[in-house]
Amino acid sequence: MLSTSRPLTMRVLAAWCLALSFAARGGLAAEADIVRPEARLETDPVPHGADAADDPAIWLHPTDPAKSLIIGTDKQGALHVYGMDGHERQRVSDGCRPDNVDVLYGFKLGDRVVDLAVASTRASKASGVKVWRIDPETCTLTDVTAGGTLPVFGGRVPYGVCTYHSAKTGKTYFIVVDKAGRIEQHELHDAGAGTVKAAKVRELKLSSITEGCVADDELGFVYVAEENVGIWKFAAEPDGGDHATRVAKVGEHGLTADVEGLTIYGAAGGKGYLIASSQGSNTFVVYTREGDNGYVLTIDPKEGRIDDVNDTDGIAVINRPTSPQFPGGFLVVQDGSNKGGNQDFKLYDWRDIAGTRLLIDTEWNPRGR
Ligand code: CA
Ligand code: CA
Ligand code: CA
Ligand code: CA
Repeated sequence: MLSTSRPLTMRVLAAWCLALSFAARGGLAAEADIVRPEARLETDPVPHGADAADDPAIWLHPTDPAKSLIIGTDKQGALHVYGMDGHERQRVSDGCRPDNVDVLYGFKLGDRVVDLAVASTRASKASGVKVWRIDPETCTLTDVTAGGTLPVFGGRVPYGVCTYHSAKTGKTYFIVVDKAGRIEQHELHDAGAGTVKAAKVRELKLSSITEGCVADDELGFVYVAEENVGIWKFAAEPDGGDHATRVAKVGEHGLTADVEGLTIYGAAGGKGYLIASSQGSNTFVVYTREGDNGYVLTIDPKEGRIDDVNDTDGIAVINRPTSPQFPGGFLVVQDGSNKGGNQDFKLYDWRDIAGTRLLIDTEWNPRGR
């Protein structure tokens, strides 16, 4: 036994080293780097069948975390608003066909400072970007888009969108991207009478289809997912130039096309995580928020009381406590095939994801200043 066990151990060791070096070079995530949380809650399904739900955003209520909202798009219909119990509270702008949505805190509108939801819309009569004011008293959304829709790309149809509130200047923007890899940055302005308009301040370009994007307000970066290529990082200020750094590449650490939704988990000291939906592998890849956005680990959800997620488009994360069910924040992701119904959004307790490996910072404030 002893004489054969040694070569076998050596062979196992060699295979293990090979697997490790493969994982380190790229390819698949190593088993030790995979966390497998179960969804703890899901939203009501969207009303349209087939591929309809796309992108969620989280609005943190300024004073009562349990009144926070999840805002989700149905790209065949309306913008949907869900409470922290997952149930739908409101449906706005039905027929505008919103694709991506993001939240912007602290926009000066008239004599008030308000929070906004901003979505890229793809309906033929409402192609562009729409803006809603989020009322903290009623927790409802009201369309405040000057002229009904803000045109982008010279009237062409947009794909993804994210917002940017500059910590440096206090100015507010949206960044919109399209299927040809075009990127436009527009500054938001008060248009009077409680409405919001925008003016283009910068154009950028990638080589192929782009949708997912997210801005880091505090550190001043915008990340754009080029679906078949990887994740690019730009300076988010309009005078930041057109230099882009590829911080993640399809084929490395299990990142598998399409690269879809992006979101940022913020923590104190500029730390936290950039998370990407790796749609082709039904996983979510976690990178550092700071520095060169190095690979940290991979989230591969599993079925529990609630079914597993697959083919995920948009994602959103929050570090702050919301309802009593999520005292450590949560990650919400679109589910491409919801067991027994139309597509929906599923919520993961951040503590289940973080375990002992990731930061759990419930103090850092995504609302900023
Ligand atoms: Ca989004
Ligand atoms: Ca896409
Ligand atoms: Ca899975
Ligand atoms: Ca599912």
